[in-house]
Amino acid sequence: MRKTLLKGGHVITVDGPERPDTDVLVADGVITAIGPGLPELDATVVDASGYVVTPGLVDAHRHVWQAPLRGLGVDMPMSRYLPEVLGAALPGYTAADAGRATLLGAVEALDAGVTTVFDWSNATLTPAHTDAVVDAFERSGIRAVVGHGNAVDEADVRRLAARTGRVTGALAILGGEYGDWDEAVAQIRLGRELGVVVSMHAGGPVVRRLHDAGLLGPDLQLVHLNAIPADDVKLLVAAGAAVVVTPTVEAVMGHGPSAYGRLADGGGRPALGVDVVINATPDLFEPMRDTLRTERLRAGSAAAPPAATMLRAATIDGARAVGLADSIGTITVGKRADLLLLDGLANLTGERAGAVVSCLTPANVRTVLVDGHLVKHEGRLLHHDLSALR
Ligand SMILES: [Zn+2]
Repeated sequence: MRKTLLKGGHVITVDGPERPDTDVLVADGVITAIGPGLPELDATVVDASGYVVTPGLVDAHRHVWQAPLRGLGVDMPMSRYLPEVLGAALPGYTAADAGRATLLGAVEALDAGVTTVFDWSNATLTPAHTDAVVDAFERSGIRAVVGHGNAVDEADVRRLAARTGRVTGALAILGGEYGDWDEAVAQIRLGRELGVVVSMHAGGPVVRRLHDAGLLGPDLQLVHLNAIPADDVKLLVAAGAAVVVTPTVEAVMGHGPSAYGRLADGGGRPALGVDVVINATPDLFEPMRDTLRTERLRAGSAAAPPAATMLRAATIDGARAVGLADSIGTITVGKRADLLLLDGLANLTGERAGAVVSCLTPANVRTVLVDGHLVKHEGRLLHHDLSALR
């Protein structure tokens, strides 16, 4: 049995009180014990003293294949993004390109402490592309839910949806706002039959239409919703539908103010995503902080919402939005061991989740475990050379 003991860290479980000077034992990829002074026995010991231990961050919405296009669209509105990135750049991707791009994007995410990504993969253009994308995620070491972006290829969707393990499948559909309604309905039904998450971009109007058609459910994931009215938030919450906001890119690309606060006020638990990477950083610290600032400005308060709320959004709320709440998103016995060791907060004596949100950056991500495997340790990626990939 492969065992790792993280010794003496300040553990932010997210599903309960923070636990100072606490060990976390991992066996065969699963968290098997949390407590002070656990016996070392035959475990590999990682000294976590002076570090904050958190669940790995969950990016609930990213177009990972765009990693090589970073910086290309800093002033690019949607009216140019659609023809230039999706219309011109994407069709130029061979299967090999999709694989290389996905590997780069996945490793960038891991380096920044993102241990799970929902890849809204426009790059699954052919079965060969899908294979290359899946293979890249397997090689990277990250946990990934790959949203198949070519739902008309039902055979390939079924093949992807049948996967189990660290890299699994989902459906990424145009939906009733960006695409044909009848097609969207058929694709939602297909996703439901296959038992996978069905993700779609949406501004807001489609929510009521989905509700009226009896299609809202916990397996539907709606992204953005910048224009959603407060009344329609209730429909989503009642149906348990997942919502992802990508506040940094939404602001930069002119989608409008984030719906985070409207969704949270209505009882929702929005997840966070990076989204396109042509104009954004590959980490979740930025969307966490962006949301915190926006919500403090909206509330006119220096204390609400609590900063720690954003860490919850970037962990367990993200896990729920990608269909993995039972296996990741908190430091809980029985869950998979996706864990971060963060430095920079050893000066504090009390709770630290808020400070993780307010004061840290990817540079503080010192050690990363995914499924119990060390993928980054003491500030260094163990299996990939990010500069060489770039
Ligand atoms: Zn998107």
